[in-house]
Amino acid sequence: MPISKNFANRLYPALENIASHFQTPFHIYDEVGIRKTCEKLQSVFSDLKSFREYYAVKALPNPRILAIMHDLGFGFDCSSIAELRLSRSVGARGEDIMFTSNNTSGADFREAAKEGGCVLNLDDINLLDKLKTIPELICFRYNPGSKRTGNDIIGKPAESKYGLSHEQIIDAYRQAKLRGAKRFGIHTMLASNELNYSYMVQTTQMLLDLITDISAELDITFEFINIGGGLGIPYLPGEKELDIEAMGKEICSLFKHFEHQLGYEPALYMESGRYITGPHGVLAVTAINRKEIYRTYVGVDASMSALMRPGIYGAYHHIEIPAKLSDSDTETVDVVGSLCENNDKFAIQRDLPKIVDGDILIIQDTGAHGSAMGFNYNGSLRPQELLLTTDNTVELIRREERLEDYFATLEFEQDLLTL
Ligand SMILES: *Cc1c(COP(=O)(O)O)cnc(C)c1O
Repeated sequence: MPISKNFANRLYPALENIASHFQTPFHIYDEVGIRKTCEKLQSVFSDLKSFREYYAVKALPNPRILAIMHDLGFGFDCSSIAELRLSRSVGARGEDIMFTSNNTSGADFREAAKEGGCVLNLDDINLLDKLKTIPELICFRYNPGSKRTGNDIIGKPAESKYGLSHEQIIDAYRQAKLRGAKRFGIHTMLASNELNYSYMVQTTQMLLDLITDISAELDITFEFINIGGGLGIPYLPGEKELDIEAMGKEICSLFKHFEHQLGYEPALYMESGRYITGPHGVLAVTAINRKEIYRTYVGVDASMSALMRPGIYGAYHHIEIPAKLSDSDTETVDVVGSLCENNDKFAIQRDLPKIVDGDILIIQDTGAHGSAMGFNYNGSLRPQELLLTTDNTVELIRREERLEDYFATLEFEQDLLTL
């Protein structure tokens, strides 16, 4: 979907200037838009006793971006050692971090315990036996199985590898309590890119019902419920935005009802990634080739290593050519990278203004699961990342990958095992 007017108004007139200074390709993120969305999310839950967003680091793992979130009081949702380190590098400590790992290794747990630890969100009941000490605050990830349908991107909960089954969940808290846990939270993550807010309301209801049952059985209370991420953004032009106000209102009223029944109100946690940064980033590329065979191909100076979503999910990413916004003359083209992979396409049979070599294309909604998902197949290197700050400065926040990075893993001491 076309980027916000505010972002376009600040980016487009400066594009030639930015491109001649930094060179394409680059992802560029909009600090103003990111802050606005963060504040919006916080505002719809202002009636709750306590709300906190734990930004899903995997969506845009750049410390400069994470520092913005930290500044706004957000925590971080991590699932790997690198993500823990990134979060701590911007100052997150202890309960600022939820460690939502799965298939967790000993090394993961050791890292999680460093620097004041973090909130452990356990993905399996057996992990209790693998922890040296049970932390005072413990959270389990719940998988409702066939009780919920899931959505298209994330799939059916009953087929997903995450979380504890319904049958295990009470026993997990019972065991944690027996072993000394004193504070409890619960987590689930059932949606991805979901535009229907009711799904999140149902998830909230599901967790509130569940903690009611667990509390009754075990005589414990819950400090928080974490309803996960998965809020959707409109990628297609004309697609309706998620109604975040209505979502906030309905979720708040579920919490008030819970408080009325149970006499206390837990905190609400979320861990959105896409919703927070997705619409506030674009990938700027330059057209370098034009090829006419059975179709017309516009070749650009980046490949799917910079943005995997079209190639792996067939996802739509809107494209604009800022210098040709008012051109009414369009043609149908595929916009492609240079990998030897025919799904290395940013757009397929898309109507765009007539593109010539040197035109700058703006591939939109790359602020989450964009650069982060990139890879090095075919020797492809990922582009730099820039930030358009609130005071209209363009700041380099990650340099481009270089050949020396690619070859770095080929520098090692010889190691032979004779059999
Ligand atoms: C990926 C992920 C998120 C963020 O998902 P979005 O679709 O970006 O909101 C949150 N929590 C967990 C556990 C995840 O794996």
